[in-house]
Amino acid sequence: MSEHDKQTIHVAGEWRSATSGATRDILDPADATAFAVVAEGGAEDVDAAIAAARTAFDGAQGEWPRTPVAERAALLRRVADLLQRDRETLALLESRDAGKTLEEGRVDVDCVTDAFRYFADLVVHESGGRVVDAGTPDVHSVVVHEPVGVCALITPWNYPLLQASWKIAPALAAGNTFVVKPSEITPLSTVALIRLLTEAGLPAGVANLVTGPGDPVGARMAEHPDVDLVSFTGGVASGTKVMRAAAGTVKKVALELGGKNPNVVFADACTTDEGFDTAVDQALNAAFIHSGQVCSAGSRLIVEESLRERFVAELARRAERIRLGRGTEPGVECGPLVSAQQLARTEDYVASALAEGAVLRAGGERPDGPGWFYRPTVLDRCHRSMRVVREEVFGPVLTVETFRTEDEAVALANDTEYGLAGAVWSADPGRARRVAGRLRHGTVWINDFHPYLPQAEWGGFGRSGIGRELGPSGLAEYRETKHVYQNLAPRPVRWFAG
Ligand code: NAD
Repeated sequence: MSEHDKQTIHVAGEWRSATSGATRDILDPADATAFAVVAEGGAEDVDAAIAAARTAFDGAQGEWPRTPVAERAALLRRVADLLQRDRETLALLESRDAGKTLEEGRVDVDCVTDAFRYFADLVVHESGGRVVDAGTPDVHSVVVHEPVGVCALITPWNYPLLQASWKIAPALAAGNTFVVKPSEITPLSTVALIRLLTEAGLPAGVANLVTGPGDPVGARMAEHPDVDLVSFTGGVASGTKVMRAAAGTVKKVALELGGKNPNVVFADACTTDEGFDTAVDQALNAAFIHSGQVCSAGSRLIVEESLRERFVAELARRAERIRLGRGTEPGVECGPLVSAQQLARTEDYVASALAEGAVLRAGGERPDGPGWFYRPTVLDRCHRSMRVVREEVFGPVLTVETFRTEDEAVALANDTEYGLAGAVWSADPGRARRVAGRLRHGTVWINDFHPYLPQAEWGGFGRSGIGRELGPSGLAEYRETKHVYQNLAPRPVRWFAG
């Protein structure tokens, strides 16, 4: 690996190594060997990156916030085209780095492309102000949107390119400058994305990147007095620290945190063979895609008691047949977990569930061979007091609980500190809508699981976070609202007589 490869810190348009000279090996989760090396940044690199972003926002060359909206949108569309040009390279990077299958990597690139195009269109559509009737013809009153300023963007390892883009696209559309910090274990696609932004013509200093660990890099970004907004995606424990650090200077805070997402299946969804096959197939997809390392994974199956045995038997049969392997190999359906730590965590949760009385129906072990693989696991006879039901595993582990009535199904589905996403399966549209209406989750799917749309908000109730990404709210996060009141006929008010 050359010196150039280690220059993964981007400040004021220049690629650099860490000030300390430190580096980090990036490991391939399929065999635990190093395949890349990146700069291991520190607080001093963050300070330099934030200073660059601040200058690009405030300084003499601070053109980006004042660049016409149509030009900002055109840049976003160029980025979308470049993402499609580099689709295979980016999918491969994401697959090596995060362990996902190549096909999942391609889907991620396509979703990211859609997000850039969506925010390009949205910002043009929503660029005008709102005229307010002040009740007199002598006043012109208008409410306008302006960029927030310097944004600190911190992302996790499960969808590195996608999570970075859900922040970067609206931040740029709104006219902000930023510093992004990808997860220290999956930084490569974010480095590639910053190169594409430069190629698309983004002025130096607008987009800055520091590769490095949560503490000190992320922690410094969250506390830094020159940052106006911090947008964080990751676990609740880190999100809590970010919120605390950001409170010191009253930054705007957006948090996209974890989930423990219910998949509620009524027996009436499975009265036909086709209905049964679809619900089982989607329950597998909900729980095991990307080895369950998905914030919205449907990791809690809540199935009507009368359907349980048939449903779980078929689910377990199909889970056992999922083909594990390196994400780049043809025919592989599930890659490894991202790290040894994530594997150990999964093993620990399964052991605790079995000790608490869960019944193992599929998986529950590592396959032989190298890499951080774990077999898709189905745990039957689970109940709400078990750790594995209450806490986010972030591995290929599906728990099964049952209900007898609609009220019981709703109570179970809402019995979580989280509230990111959930699904209800029913052939009765009235019941499906009724239950969906009662679920306390940021996204509810009816007779589906996992799809999202760039036009629709994404985010959580409860401890799943604060704020929303995507949709109009996803752009609003990156905008300040200003009321400009213009008196067209100023006169003294004579409040004071003297
Ligand atoms: P994590 O919280 O460990 O790390 C996320 C990011 O925060 C990383 O870049 C990390 O380096 C950084 N970080 C860690 N400590 C920090 C600190 N003190 N200050 C600032 N930054 C810090 O999460 P992870 O293990 O990378 O990702 C998994 C978690 O992310 C899961 O809980 C998952 O549910 C969540 N997630 C949520 C969404 C969503 O849209 N809601 C999407 C993807 C992942």
